[in-house]
Parts: sequence; C-alpha cells; structure tokens
Amino acid sequence: AQELLISSEKLTSAGQLAAGVAHEIRNPLTSLKGFLQLLETGIEGKEAYLKIMKDEIEKIETISSELLYIARPSHLKFEDENMVAILNDICLLMRSQARMNDIQIEFEPLDDQIKFRCDRSQIKQVFINLIKNAIEATEESGTIAVNIVQSNPLIVDVVDEGPGVPNEMKEKLGEPFFTTKKNGSGLGLMVTKQILSNHDATIKILDNEDKGSTFRVTFPS
Ligand code: ADP
Ligand code: MG
Repeated sequence: AQELLISSEKLTSAGQLAAGVAHEIRNPLTSLKGFLQLLETGIEGKEAYLKIMKDEIEKIETISSELLYIARPSHLKFEDENMVAILNDICLLMRSQARMNDIQIEFEPLDDQIKFRCDRSQIKQVFINLIKNAIEATEESGTIAVNIVQSNPLIVDVVDEGPGVPNEMKEKLGEPFFTTKKNGSGLGLMVTKQILSNHDATIKILDNEDKGSTFRVTFPS
C-alpha cells in the first residue's frame, strides 16, 4: 500500500501551482490567438479551426473549474453529515455517466446513517473525482464498487477493474497536471488530496488481488 502523502511544499506551493496553471492555460490561448488571426484573413475550411478552438476553450474551462475546488480551509463549512446519504447522491449522479459505458456502480451500505463532520460539497467533489477516474480507467464494461469499509474511523474504498496504477507511477499521482489521458487535466487527484488534507483525512492506493485498483480514503476518528 502506497500513501499518497500530502507533501504540500512539493506539490501545491502557491507559486509552483500558479506557474503550472499559467503554462497550461497559455498553450490553448496561444493557439486560440493564432486561429483567430487565420480566421480574420478569411481562410478556407473554417469548421475545422472552429472545432479546435472549441476544444481549447474547453481545456481552459476544465482547468479553471477544477481549481475552484481548492478552497481555503477558512472558507470551508464543516457540518454534521451522513456519509451514506452523500455516497447515495454521488452514485446516483455518476450512474448516468457510467451507464453509457456499460459500467455498473455498486454501493450497498450496511447502515442508513454514518455520521461524520465535513464540508459536504467538498467531500462530494472527492468522490466524484475518484469515481470519474474509476469510470475512465474501466476499459470496456465492468463494475465499480464504493464500499464503506468501517465507520470508526470512517474508511471508504472506491474499487475499479481497470488496469491498476503501475508502482513507479504511484508517487506521481496527485502532482498538478500529471495525467496519462489525452484530454485529462491532471488536477483531479491534486484537488482531492487538498480537500482531504483540509479534513485531516488521507488517501492511499491499494493493489487489488485480481485487477484494477482501490483508492482508500480514511477520515480521522
Ligand atoms: P486526470 O483524470 O485528469 O488524468 P487525475 O489527477 O484525476 O487527472 O488523475 C491523474 C492520473 O492518475 C490519471 O491520468 C491516471 O493515469 C491515474 N489514475 C487515476 N485514477 C486511476 C484509476 N482508478 N486507475 C488507473 N489509473 C488512475
Ligand atoms: Mg481525473
């Protein structure tokens, strides 16, 4: 089991992140500017350029919306919440996306009520990010399981049947902009770790015996 430690100095020092964001946003902006200049001169085949421009704008949109979730701890709203209700909501939400890819999301809690303190919208974002990654990792059809392993301290696993995470890649996960996906932002796990850190919770990756990986979130007792 490998800890995805929250090495905040290394990963998310504000300056380093800002430099990364600037870099990631500058590339699509440069290409947008170039295509606009081309369009001004009235070239042929406008549709292809417009399509690329739309993709570039979407890239910028993704980056900025993911970064919105890096809230300052002082802006968080901690309240008594029910983990079962939160996970029910999220599974319902993600099932519509999963169904299109022939993926089942299983969540069978043993209790109706597991209380814990958290910022609800932030914790929702954590499980949206993890389940989204699990869906994207599932190659064809498959099952994703969301399991409440125990209630005190509260542990939740998100288990997929994808290819798993190679050992040498594990420590890169959660670094800003680290992605192996064509249209990935590489911000999901960084934001996830940041939110969990604000909750004194941790995340680690377990290797599944058969195939796939398990992302395990442990809350403080
Ligand atoms: P993104 O999803 O935009 O690539 P993330 O920070 O969410 O960014 O994930 C970073 C990388 O971690 C992914 O590109 C992928 O290589 C790896 N990863 C995350 N979740 C899984 C998973 N469930 N199975 C395999 N690899 C994963
Ligand atoms: Mg992701």
